Amino acid sequence: MHSIETRESMRKSRSQIHDSSSFHARQSNPRRIYQVWKGNNKFCCGGRVILGPDASSLFLTSFLIGCPAIAFCIKMALHMKPQDTIFSHQILLGGLVLTVLDLGFLFLTSFGDPGIIPRNAKPPEECLEDDEVSKSTSFDWANGKPNSLRLPRLKEVKLVTGETVQVKFCETCLLYRTPRASHCSICNNCVQRFDHHCPWVGQCIGERNYSFFFCFISSSTTLCIYVFTCSWVNILRQDCSFWTAVSRDVLSVILILYCFIVVWFVGGLTVFHFYLISTNQTTYESFRYRYDRKTNPFNKGILSNFRQVFLSRIPPSLVNFRAWISEDDDRLSVNGDNPDVEMGVPKLLQKIDFDDFDSNDKTKFDIA
Ligand SMILES: [Zn+2]
Ligand SMILES: [Zn+2]
Repeated sequence: MHSIETRESMRKSRSQIHDSSSFHARQSNPRRIYQVWKGNNKFCCGGRVILGPDASSLFLTSFLIGCPAIAFCIKMALHMKPQDTIFSHQILLGGLVLTVLDLGFLFLTSFGDPGIIPRNAKPPEECLEDDEVSKSTSFDWANGKPNSLRLPRLKEVKLVTGETVQVKFCETCLLYRTPRASHCSICNNCVQRFDHHCPWVGQCIGERNYSFFFCFISSSTTLCIYVFTCSWVNILRQDCSFWTAVSRDVLSVILILYCFIVVWFVGGLTVFHFYLISTNQTTYESFRYRYDRKTNPFNKGILSNFRQVFLSRIPPSLVNFRAWISEDDDRLSVNGDNPDVEMGVPKLLQKIDFDDFDSNDKTKFDIA
């Protein structure tokens, strides 16, 4: 979807923001974009870390992963028998590696920009088309909105593959969303290839962090199965009867029960997302509408779909949250600094041919 030229323009825009940084930095009391951001995000480390509004749930998730995993590793380290050192070392090392990977993918998912689309300060005037004003799907900008503008709520865009999809106008961000983008009501941002807002991760799952999210849930499943299996082995390897071993090794029993419960949740989620990736759907699309009776225009075959998620380069962020904003700039958004978004039509969409609204002879997908 994103062409090389589009990515080049994004890189240029980011360098332009950096160039303008020194100008804004010279102004009195300069502020950065993240300090005036209209979304509900939380920021850390001077705007380098972007979190969702419910990022505190990250502590709970880390606790639910870290505590049993560390208890398991400590048990393997403390109860290492002299004749079992190689076995115990390998089990311990495996547990540590899986735990670090799991928490690493969790933080990679949670701490970055999921693909936020910078919002506009005013509605896109050049998108107005007189013949579309009377359509029932139009959006009324009366009641305080500038010039009583009316905009078509939906636009048809043509993908590079030739299929036509519909994109919706976002009344909050004042822009036509890119295909597959949606507005997260929790974060209050439009997000590219919006999948869902994950309360466990405390962040939107979108274009830029979906691969990390899948690695997180699949490594959680692997860790669960690993601890479950090794705890069983610990009990069965003891030189006593089964019930005596169970009564002696209460921690292993607790870990077995805990992992048995959790694996249904994370394992089910992993299988579900494995299915979504293989059919190139997002969670939002699979619940909002189904492709069952239509051809999914994004489905390119299982191998290509997996390649798109795991082997494609993660597109650069559309927002430089650390860019300076001038003191008298009350737009509190980045479109002025970011030439990738021009009056409601991101350059991503400018690569796409806009069609007339009533060309209904093609397959249509309401993906907004
Ligand atoms: Zn929006
Ligand atoms: Zn969100």
